[in-house]
Amino acid sequence: MNTATDNVDQQEIRKFDELASRWWDPDGEFKPLHRLNPLRTRYVAERAELAGRRVLDVGCGGGLLSESLAREGADVTGIDMAAGPLAVARLHQHKSGLQEIRYLETHAEALAAAEPASYDVLTCMEVIEHVPEPASLLHACAALTRPGGQLFFSTLNRTPKAFALAIVGAEYIMRMLPKGTHEFEKFIRPSELRRWATDAGLSFEGIRGVIYHPFSQSFELGDDVSVNYLMHFSRPA
Ligand code: SAH
Repeated sequence: MNTATDNVDQQEIRKFDELASRWWDPDGEFKPLHRLNPLRTRYVAERAELAGRRVLDVGCGGGLLSESLAREGADVTGIDMAAGPLAVARLHQHKSGLQEIRYLETHAEALAAAEPASYDVLTCMEVIEHVPEPASLLHACAALTRPGGQLFFSTLNRTPKAFALAIVGAEYIMRMLPKGTHEFEKFIRPSELRRWATDAGLSFEGIRGVIYHPFSQSFELGDDVSVNYLMHFSRPA
């Protein structure tokens, strides 16, 4: 059960725990994340200095993005509430020969109390649509980032097209994602994400859409934000 101080949906965490061993299979349940990873890493790297910087990856799961940010030279901390994916992330980091990643089982609100204003860059990709109170997560992310720092979010838009592609297409037709991975009502419009971020004191820096090509099952960044999108904010200095 969720309490007011614990912005974590345990049912969601269980879903990811059950899939932990599949995390690094490029053709498994997390195939879309594998395909997206180079694009989103480039988006972050183009917009924020990473080498030697402290980066926090919120909801890191098995560590796909954490590892690619570490490869850019960042000093990465990955946090998640699911123990299984974190164990996989720790194992995989050794396999990859990456020593600099610190993985912690915690959530953003708890870490914000312990390490306020501690990170130069914060990433939170494909996580907001899984938490009970997105506004609270945005506040915690803002508090974790140092003044002058950069924040990057990605999520699914609440449009008929996103419903068709991310739920009907990916879960039911392509069987690319397990059924029940996403709940349409929890998808987030760009205007909502932007409002929560602004309410948390952040400045909007940019948005890019993620375009999916069904035949090649590949992704590309573009102007169409109707399905999946990346948003960049900064914490004013
Ligand atoms: N960000 C990763 C994983 C996305 S899957 C990537 O894009 O590659 C979503 C992850 O969010 C899961 O690992 C899940 O356990 C985690 N998660 C869900 N709710 C959370 C919360 N309240 N705090 C921290 N992590 C959470």
